[in-house]
Amino acid sequence: MNDKKILIVGAGFSGAVIARQLAEEGHTIKIIDQRAHIGGNSYDARDAQTDVMVHVYGPHIFHTDNKVVWDYVNQHANMMPYVNRVKATVNGQVFSLPINLHTINQFFGTTCSPDEAKALITEKGDDSIQDPKTFEEQALRFIGKELYEAFFKGYTIKQWGMQPSELPASILKRLPVRFNYDDNYFNHKFQGMPELGYTKMIESIVDHENITVELECIFNESDRDTYDHVFYSGPLDAFYSYQYGRLGYRTLDFEKFTYQGDYQGCAVMNYCSVDVPYTRITEHKYFSPWESHEGSVCYKEYSRACGEDDIPYYPIRQLGEMALLEKYVSLAEKENNITFVGRLGTYRYLDMDVTIAEALNTADAYLSSLRKDSVMPVFTVSVR
Ligand code: UDP
Repeated sequence: MNDKKILIVGAGFSGAVIARQLAEEGHTIKIIDQRAHIGGNSYDARDAQTDVMVHVYGPHIFHTDNKVVWDYVNQHANMMPYVNRVKATVNGQVFSLPINLHTINQFFGTTCSPDEAKALITEKGDDSIQDPKTFEEQALRFIGKELYEAFFKGYTIKQWGMQPSELPASILKRLPVRFNYDDNYFNHKFQGMPELGYTKMIESIVDHENITVELECIFNESDRDTYDHVFYSGPLDAFYSYQYGRLGYRTLDFEKFTYQGDYQGCAVMNYCSVDVPYTRITEHKYFSPWESHEGSVCYKEYSRACGEDDIPYYPIRQLGEMALLEKYVSLAEKENNITFVGRLGTYRYLDMDVTIAEALNTADAYLSSLRKDSVMPVFTVSVR
């Protein structure tokens, strides 16, 4: 097989993993990124004042059921035990999330057993809603009005800038309701944090003699001529200079503050009421519970519509966006020698583990296309 010259746009998880897989097969890889650092939004760095490892673009917690992905990250980092336990402040009280037996008993002032709580929540749920389609219907059907209004309604309006009656049920389906005292936010088999941080993990992934990384480097269409293939993990609409308009995203603003001591006693405290303008406060030293620090760094997190100069975080994927996405996907499907990858390249909300799994598949698909002398697809996942 002839060695190929590959350009990868974006040094986040997608770009780094594809680069490594192809470099291992003898191809020559150049990664460019417009930012001054690698890691994309999972970039972390130690705060100069407190030495706390700060998740600069917001908290990232690694969780997966995928053993291949778990083994992959463990090759590039020492994954430390970490369990995400989220609290919520609402109506002047602190509750345990996701909704579990403790939350239910705190909220209703009961001492229900699991079976009693199931009966209580079944009674609260609105079973006249047969086939819940929206976030609101899903919540009313399965947890009832009181819990929905306390924990989900306000938070969701803040997070998405939309009424829960306008959002799909799928967003809520990510969150479980548990009838025991398990307060692990995630249901996944594997969960952990890289001991030295995500930036170091990605440094290790791209640390290969066939890979070069150039930072603060903007992609130019003319670059394509000098490479056999491009993997593009930037925003799909940006690739086409937003010619049909911008795909909608939510962006986040972080109000960073330091505190001497222990500010809130946990990593994540959600504020579910619309009366509080931020969605949550994260206290970053709690993401590295094996370390100890006197000082503390916290982020107040605000969500809003993503403007032209903002960092895109959550793809909105409502009907209007999907129509626009269709136009960009149709354009993209006419391309040769380029594959759009990752959260921004495919305009989908992706957890880190899914991003890595897809990047591994994309690299395999490319290697297989070389072996078979077949065309490498523009998308290796379904984006519509
Ligand atoms: N959510 C909520 N209240 C909470 C936490 C989450 O209403 O205290 C809703 C909100 O709409 C959010 C969705 O559940 O977008 C998914 O939550 P998750 O914690 O998975 O959010 P993400 O990781 O996407 O920020």
